[in-house]
Amino acid sequence: MTDCLFCKIAAKEIPAEIVLETDRTLAFRDINPQAPTHVLVVPKEHHADAAALAAADDGLADDVLKTAHAVAQGDGVSEAGYRVVFNTGPAAGQTVFHVHAHVLGGREMRWPPG
Ligand code: 5GP
Ligand code: ZN
Repeated sequence: MTDCLFCKIAAKEIPAEIVLETDRTLAFRDINPQAPTHVLVVPKEHHADAAALAAADDGLADDVLKTAHAVAQGDGVSEAGYRVVFNTGPAAGQTVFHVHAHVLGGREMRWPPG
């Protein structure tokens, strides 16, 4: 997609603080972190949201989840616990329509989320 912010970050056309890269995924720190660890994991291929990613049916959703866990391990939050969030659609607060997993950790998480 030509006019997609996260496609541009995935293509390294826009800078980001990259923490992990695999052949099909990229993980980078959120520009407005909500926790000590707040990393976004995207597939390099454009899919608008989690539903579209799941429908791709080619293992890409697995790759995103595996990268999310590797990020948590890398930031040292995997044993204490962390949260993986896909805001899906406007009512859930999705603002960037290139699917991304938020990996949040390093502080106590409240439930239910707001
Ligand atoms: P959403 O609201 O779609 O679930 O999450 C979008 C996230 O992208 C937000 O947490 C926001 O802070 C982050 N974000 C928006 N623009 C940029 C950017 O240019 N760079 C980075 N690293 N994060 C961004
Ligand atoms: Zn995109």
